[in-house]
Amino acid sequence: MSAAGADVVIIGGGLHGCSAALHLARAGIRALVVEKNYVGRHASGVNAGGVRTLARNEAEIPLALAALELWHAIGELVDDDCGFESFGQIRVAENAADAAALQQREARLQALGYSHERWIAADELFLRVPALSRHCVGGLIALRDGAALPHGTTAAFRRKAESLGQIFLEDTRVLGIRREGNSWVVDTSAGTLSCRVLVNCAGAWADAICAALASRSRSRRSVR
Ligand SMILES: Cc1cc2nc3c(=O)[nH]c(=O)nc-3n(C[C@H](O)[C@H](O)[C@H](O)COP(=O)(O)OP(=O)(O)OC[C@H]3O[C@@H](n4cnc5c(N)ncnc54)[C@H](O)[C@@H]3O)c2cc1C
Repeated sequence: MSAAGADVVIIGGGLHGCSAALHLARAGIRALVVEKNYVGRHASGVNAGGVRTLARNEAEIPLALAALELWHAIGELVDDDCGFESFGQIRVAENAADAAALQQREARLQALGYSHERWIAADELFLRVPALSRHCVGGLIALRDGAALPHGTTAAFRRKAESLGQIFLEDTRVLGIRREGNSWVVDTSAGTLSCRVLVNCAGAWADAICAALASRSRSRRSVR
């Protein structure tokens, strides 16, 4: 595929951009990722690496559980274990009030049909985390949670997407976006691209992309 021939242009080479490129490839759709620095340079490459269903907002739980299933078979998706280890995560109760709140949460989740968070008493807590201060009284554990290597994960998604034919342009910044007929025309620091579908995966800069798209000017919409 040439840079000019993509169906989809994805702005941003973080995990979201790389994952979108991979899943589009699996659906047979050609995509090109435009990244102003290098893949994994920003939030996706430098974070705590947590893979967590614990303490999610109730609205997030179905997605978090579905994602966790992918993590437990991540090698099948990207041919790389991404450094994923499943050692569980624990939300600690430091006093009776914390304990009551966490036990109420466990009961609420069970009423909704979820069993991934389980209350553990102090003896099990100290067995699992021996260095914890002895004033702690228990906690909620999500046993199948864990952590992965953030940069390695993002790179693995990129490699798999590339192996399926997707293109990544690094050191290339999206400068402006405009509509021409049924196409998006994307001005970048390395030239102009056009595509049918544009995907905004620009992370902390996504608002600048949205602002450019919302601009009232019908001509060139600059990304600031
Ligand atoms: C394995 C893993 C574990 C994680 N664990 C945690 C955790 O424990 N705690 C936590 O808080 N978060 C965690 N995260 C989430 C992480 O902190 C980020 O929230 C997430 O990865 C954001 O991804 P993103 O692709 O949206 O953004 P980013 O990684 O920031 O990617 C956006 C990209 O867009 C590019 N871009 C922006 N504007 C332009 C432009 N005009 N032209 C071209 N490119 C542009 C940027 O350069 C950037 O590379 C984890 C992520 C991973 C991968």
